[in-house]
Amino acid sequence: MTAAATTHQHTNCLRCGRKLTSTKSTATGYGPTCTRKVKAAAKAEIVATYKPHLVAKAEELIEQGGIVALRGRNVFQVVASNGVDTYKAARQGCTCAAGLKGKHVCYHRIAAHILSLAA
Ligand SMILES: [Zn+2]
Ligand SMILES: [Zn+2]
Repeated sequence: MTAAATTHQHTNCLRCGRKLTSTKSTATGYGPTCTRKVKAAAKAEIVATYKPHLVAKAEELIEQGGIVALRGRNVFQVVASNGVDTYKAARQGCTCAAGLKGKHVCYHRIAAHILSLAA
């Protein structure tokens, strides 16, 4: 048994309904096969929507744990690259300098989009 505290436990896969057995699956809500399929579908949508170098930056941000969910799965808090400032990002908008100008989609929004799909 693991001592890791999880707030939410799934018993069945959200995609195919099969019983989940591993700790990781009960935490994410998807079995290993469905995790791959869901991620592949999400990735395809992201790649089709945004520029590759921004997608790479967004993925890096997620890997480094620089973005965390605030409310539900739609609003995220992002730690800026200086490690001090924080922004609020969602798929539709972001409070960083580039995001407020609104001309371009910043990678914070892409990261929010990826996480909202992967959740
Ligand atoms: Zn499944
Ligand atoms: Zn931003």
